Amino acid sequence: MMTMMNLMNLFKRKEKVELVIGLPPIFEWAKKHFPNIDEKTTIFSYGNKIYAPQELPDHLWAHELVHCKRQGYSESGAKKWWDRYVADLDFRYNEEVLAYREQYRFFKERCKDRNKIFNFGRLLANELSSPLYGNLADFRTAHNHITDEKPWL
Ligand SMILES: [Zn+2]
Repeated sequence: MMTMMNLMNLFKRKEKVELVIGLPPIFEWAKKHFPNIDEKTTIFSYGNKIYAPQELPDHLWAHELVHCKRQGYSESGAKKWWDRYVADLDFRYNEEVLAYREQYRFFKERCKDRNKIFNFGRLLANELSSPLYGNLADFRTAHNHITDEKPWL
C-alpha cells in the first residue's frame, strides 16, 4: 500500500512540474556558491521546473520534487528558497535530508534486493556528505539521517 501511495504522490507532484533538459537561469549564480557543481551532472529544482542534463529516473524525481514542493512550485518561492539555501547551512542540510530521505524511501519500496538498497543508501550518504554541498555532515551522520525512519523535523 505504501508503494502505491508514494507512487501516486509522485505522479501528482510530477503534474505540477516540468522537466527542462538544460541549465537553469541561476546556473552562473549557483556556480559561484557551489564551485564543485558540474553542468553535466547537476540537477536543479526551481519552483515548477526541474533542470537536468538528461531524463531522470523516478528516484531522482522523488528527490527533486521534494525541493519543488518546499519551493511552493513557484518562482518567487524558489527565489526565496535558493537565497536561503546558499546562505544558511542548517537550512541547506535540512532541505537535503528531506529530499534524500524521500529518494531513499522511494527506491527501497521498489527494490527487493537488500544489497542494492544497502549500496543505494551508501551512495546517497556519500553524496550528501560530499564537498558538493559544502561538507555539511560526515558520512555516518548523513547515512543515519537518510536511512532513519523516524520523522525528520
Ligand atoms: Zn537536493
